[in-house]
Amino acid sequence: MMSLLSSILRRKPAVLLQVRLLSSYAPPGTTSQQQRIEKILVANRGEIACRIMRTAKRLGIRTVAVYSDADKNSLHVKSADEAVHIGPPPARLSYLNGSSIVEAAVRTGAQAVHPGYGFLSESSEFAQLVEDRGLTFIGPPASAIRDMGDKSASKRIMGAAGVPLVPGYHGSEQDVEIMRLEADKIGYPILIKPTHGGGGKGMRIVQSPNEFVDSFLGAQREAAASFGINTILLEKYITQPRHIEVQIFGDKFGNVLHLYERDCSVQRRHQKIIEEAPAPCVTDEFRTHLGQAAVSAAKAVGYHNAGTVEFIVDTKTGHFYFMEMNTRLQVEHPVTEMIVGQDLVEWQIHVANGEPLPISQDQVPLSGHAFEARIYAENVPKGFLPATGVLHHYHPVPPSSTVRVETGVEQGDVVSMHYDPMIAKLVVWGENRAAALVKLKDCLLKFQVAGLPTNINFLQKLANHKAFEEGNVETHFIERHKDDLFVDPNNKVIYEDAYSAARLGAKLVAACLCEKERSAMKESHSGDSSLLPIWYTHPPFRVNHHAQRTMEFECENEYESSSSKPLMLSITYRPDGNYFIQHQQIGENDAHILEVKASNLGNDNFIVEADGLTMNVSLAVYTKGQIKHIHIWNGPHHHHFRQKLGLDLSDEDETQHKTSFETTSHPPGTVVAPMAGLVVKVLVENGAKVEAGQPVLVLEAMKMEHVVKATSGGVVEGLKVGAGQQVSDGSVLFRVKVSHFEFGSWN
Ligand code: ADP
Repeated sequence: MMSLLSSILRRKPAVLLQVRLLSSYAPPGTTSQQQRIEKILVANRGEIACRIMRTAKRLGIRTVAVYSDADKNSLHVKSADEAVHIGPPPARLSYLNGSSIVEAAVRTGAQAVHPGYGFLSESSEFAQLVEDRGLTFIGPPASAIRDMGDKSASKRIMGAAGVPLVPGYHGSEQDVEIMRLEADKIGYPILIKPTHGGGGKGMRIVQSPNEFVDSFLGAQREAAASFGINTILLEKYITQPRHIEVQIFGDKFGNVLHLYERDCSVQRRHQKIIEEAPAPCVTDEFRTHLGQAAVSAAKAVGYHNAGTVEFIVDTKTGHFYFMEMNTRLQVEHPVTEMIVGQDLVEWQIHVANGEPLPISQDQVPLSGHAFEARIYAENVPKGFLPATGVLHHYHPVPPSSTVRVETGVEQGDVVSMHYDPMIAKLVVWGENRAAALVKLKDCLLKFQVAGLPTNINFLQKLANHKAFEEGNVETHFIERHKDDLFVDPNNKVIYEDAYSAARLGAKLVAACLCEKERSAMKESHSGDSSLLPIWYTHPPFRVNHHAQRTMEFECENEYESSSSKPLMLSITYRPDGNYFIQHQQIGENDAHILEVKASNLGNDNFIVEADGLTMNVSLAVYTKGQIKHIHIWNGPHHHHFRQKLGLDLSDEDETQHKTSFETTSHPPGTVVAPMAGLVVKVLVENGAKVEAGQPVLVLEAMKMEHVVKATSGGVVEGLKVGAGQQVSDGSVLFRVKVSHFEFGSWN
């Protein structure tokens, strides 16, 4: 049956995807054991909670959601059969509160708890607590979670099982002098790593022996502060590594298999953003060895359920080494599902229920190629800082047999500072890598999000990069190609290109707005004016009359320093339904005139004709404070314009050539919050003398700490925020006043 299936799949990828969604498990009633799990509590939120519930529903299992005050109306709550409130927004009081989650499971009669990823998924105490209350933990045994939570212990276990390790020291000795001798033995550069923890925290690269002691002591301090344990291990630092991980699965009968590997090398802030399966540019022989090593690793800790064995691959030598084992379902599990045609959440539930794995290693199909791109609310030019805000416009690409969108949000939802800022995972499948990449690029172009900054544009640049197309990936990919991936604000060529594109966009926007306004006005004769679109403002055009209005737009650019000069548009509406658009860049003498016709196709979609060119255009308009934001998608182009409210509508008059976009100016030395967040620490007091670059306070949002530093040397003034206080993006935190007196230059 399986070989027949594989041959169908090889011939017809489209059929494969249909088949892929079918279960390998026999239907309920024919399994060796009676199905016990009838209701699952999902101890998580967002896309992963929705994804788990989807499979549970398909299997006829009822679901219970848990939610904090911030998530009362969120999609995961709506997706569940029942939902239990577990506390206030901060995760430590809700999604990390194991006992109240277990209480919720008991109260609602759930027999099992699925932890998702993040939060409590790798807490052995939580897994134990669930089991102690007579419930089933849908995950590995608590003992395996504990063993793998300590990087030194896990390396010792893996070394004993014959799994290759990065040359290093992971013994119990922690004396700095002895460690320094160990470092000499390993050879520089060295990576110092805390044994407990994650997210790359506390890790230090040491280039030479004379830096060792300082780095070691610093890493110890940071580990103690972050994880409460200051033990350290040493590893050879691999300068050009790839991050390749293997999906493994075990049942409670000792069977373990692997479902091939994923390449997760493209990372920012030590976090993955594009993953793919299988890994590009690896041989079948390498793939087999890697898979076998992963299975040995899982067997060494008596593993069952889903797990991932992470390896670091030295691209210079081709050797791979065990890095760590993640004892949960990973964020990027869908790329594996796409190439093997299995539902891993379904496997998790069956295995937790005491059923054997449905297939053996030689029956695991491998077909085609899959990518996942993580779409985040984040500010790419500010170093990928998490962003918050309202999803005013959210039109993900429609799912199909080759496209999945895993999301936990809907249009109108808020991305808050409390949780991970991921909006969606876009997962695509193609017959081979090139076909999958074409699909990925296409879907990224069509994925529409407006209301907050996202990384979509950046993901497009990544997917289109030549080195990425060639599969030439490694963990420093973004750093290595930064000149291509980040628009240089001072690059005149890019500036001009963006500007001319913006001009085209502005014309289209103007045309669309006119059309919208006209239809809104017609409706207003017969209806409720509160239903009018938000850009409907007085004075309106009069139907069947020549009318003219002037609007001023500014093209929003991710890289603020390169934003273009405002555009003044004068629009004349003609009785025949067409418009004349005259546009002029403020400060320029030449005005350009264009005739434009726009017709509304409904749902914010328009057909625009201009200069003999017909274009399909989608539009999103919303207001934020005193600014109206206009987004326009036209084929591969996405433009974002701002229009200041209250200043732009001058009927019959377009002569006020003054910009309405003066940016708020602060006195020199003012430091504003780079992101919305919670002040966790204030390190200096008002009046304190600081040096340029000295940390002044620490902000935290969405699992991330950000140190706000003094921009110059001087005296700190106007510091009003304290620990525990929330600040919004762009709010003034303090000022560093340069004291000339200090330098003795004037007095
Ligand atoms: P954490 O648990 O803090 O995320 P990991 O051990 O998983 O730490 O490592 C995080 C990342 O750091 C890896 O994905 C890899 O990019 C890099 N890294 C880890 N170990 C090494 C090493 N020995 N040499 C080079 N880079 C490494």
